[in-house]
Amino acid sequence: MGVADVILLFVSDATSKFSRATPNPEADRRARTAGRRLVETQIEMARRLEEMNRDYAFAALGCSSIGHYGMTLGLSQQQARMLADAGRAFALAPDLEEEVRSGSVTIEAAAALARILSDPRFEAESKKWRGLALERTPAALLRAIRKAIAEADAEQAVEQVTLMMKPEVRDRMGRAREIISSMQGVSGPVTNEFVVEFTVDYFLAREDPDLVEPGTRRKGSTAGDPSRAIPAEVKRDIIKKRGRKCQVHGCENHIYLNFCHIDPHAEGGSREESNLFIGCWLHHWLYDHGRITLSGTAEQPVFRNAQGELIGRPRPPP
Ligand SMILES: [Zn+2]
Repeated sequence: MGVADVILLFVSDATSKFSRATPNPEADRRARTAGRRLVETQIEMARRLEEMNRDYAFAALGCSSIGHYGMTLGLSQQQARMLADAGRAFALAPDLEEEVRSGSVTIEAAAALARILSDPRFEAESKKWRGLALERTPAALLRAIRKAIAEADAEQAVEQVTLMMKPEVRDRMGRAREIISSMQGVSGPVTNEFVVEFTVDYFLAREDPDLVEPGTRRKGSTAGDPSRAIPAEVKRDIIKKRGRKCQVHGCENHIYLNFCHIDPHAEGGSREESNLFIGCWLHHWLYDHGRITLSGTAEQPVFRNAQGELIGRPRPPP
């Protein structure tokens, strides 16, 4: 069969499908009803995910984040976070829900608004941002909101830069973020913007011939090494084999990681690879407090929550 034949077949197939979509009042009504119910379902999911996100409720099910919990529902982590944000926005501005229901604001735009509505610095501007949510695409709205928050943080105008990086570099940047947070003495992680600013300044202060006088270069900081108990070679080997991320299935955390003893150190558990798993701070806490269990090996562990369900995997129907 020649190329022309294939194209003809494709055209005739498309035409026959199209002819089935002639005006049909019954189908129109069905589509409108289904559409309304789906929006209602989205709103309901947003409300419930917000509930699940409040006060780390998801941790009771062994999950480390709302994104991690969303995976058990078959959502992507991004979708779960978006819906939980929308739920937060509905809690902060109840009339927003009606705007989503009527179709004047998308649920993604409502989710983007959550950041503005929960930030006291923007209290006086909430009307302006609600108006922008009616006009802009969700992506454009989110970009504008991120920029406004970054400018409020920096107390001056900022420029948006998009970086494309290898996942390994993103992970190393996460580690840098952790160390910089610890050097700054702040409890939460510093922003990625701050990591870039800090590392550029750090580099220039040491390597820029215009700034450094010969013979005055300082050694790098040794801050940010909280777990001295485990030999560095053991830690390096574990990271090399398993990657720098929490080993609980589906957990997205790659910063604030701990080397967790499977058998507690206090009960004679060793500091060798076979007795250590990499866990984020929350999974470490849940494991040490018996809220999640581990079977299998340190290299390929299987985690279950207190109900005995596999963590981070879709749940089978009851
Ligand atoms: Zn984790």
